[in-house]
Amino acid sequence: MSLLVVGSVALDDIEAPAGSVKSVLGGAASYFGVAASFFVPVRVVAVVGDDFPEPHVKFLASRGLDLGGLQRVPGRTFRWGGRYRASLNERDTLFTELGVFEHFDPKIPPAYRDSDWVFLANIQPRLQRTVLEQTRAPRFSAMDTMNFWIEGAREELEKTLAVVKGLVINDEEARQLTGESNLVRAADAIRLLGPEVVIVKRGEHGALLFDDDGVFAAPAFPLREVRDPTGAGDSFAGGLMGALASHGALDRDSLRRAMIYGSVLASFCVERFSLDRFRDLTRSDIDVRFDEFRRLTAF
Ligand code: AMP
Repeated sequence: MSLLVVGSVALDDIEAPAGSVKSVLGGAASYFGVAASFFVPVRVVAVVGDDFPEPHVKFLASRGLDLGGLQRVPGRTFRWGGRYRASLNERDTLFTELGVFEHFDPKIPPAYRDSDWVFLANIQPRLQRTVLEQTRAPRFSAMDTMNFWIEGAREELEKTLAVVKGLVINDEEARQLTGESNLVRAADAIRLLGPEVVIVKRGEHGALLFDDDGVFAAPAFPLREVRDPTGAGDSFAGGLMGALASHGALDRDSLRRAMIYGSVLASFCVERFSLDRFRDLTRSDIDVRFDEFRRLTAF
């Protein structure tokens, strides 16, 4: 049940209707890793600069993340700034400063190479492939991507899609990748590129799972207050992969349950800024909300 994530660990500036924060813990690997850590131990491969605050390292370690693959190199940590519009559905990227992330070359420590479950968060598709090449036949590998790579590294992206088993992608990016405005057809087209399992994230509208068993829809949890949507997608992927890894199975029911765990973790993530909601979250909070999801959708 060993789970490996490779991706960004970042310092974020966030502006949202509920407030603004600066230089807070962010990054896809942070959100994914912490969300997944409620289910299984997580191995992290990422890079930070020498400005990365020690308390963030302590927090990640306190969640049981194995940071043996977290490279610390001279320079500045990856920084990203985002501003949400009033609806929270739209966000503008204010800045992206790659810093040490620019030369990130994911080195998988020998002790991580037997990882059964691998998540390739949003990084250069060629680097995602080098990660897979360094692992020994994981049971399940999934990846994320974004518009930047769809536009700028299409060929590399297609090569990576051909070798992963799962893709977790935003609705707009699924449309962009395939040229299909209809999401069912977009998922069909993506599955022809390689991934057997395609999960399309639709923000406040939930997520759709497409696989050999057809389609499954998970709603987003209806929350009275959303403070910061940053990292919801990565937390969804962390909850999903963590649940799959802890269950150790990939059958129809395991995938569907994992979709709900993903939705549960995403719903907690957005309740506070940065990863703050995860600081005092417990496994029993997760189980209570999982049951609330059941009631939400049973008829
Ligand atoms: P999400 O809200 O799921 O898109 O994830 C947001 C997180 O991804 C933030 O914490 C950012 O630090 C991180 N992020 C933003 N842009 C990038 C990028 N180009 N590559 C890697 N991580 C990024």
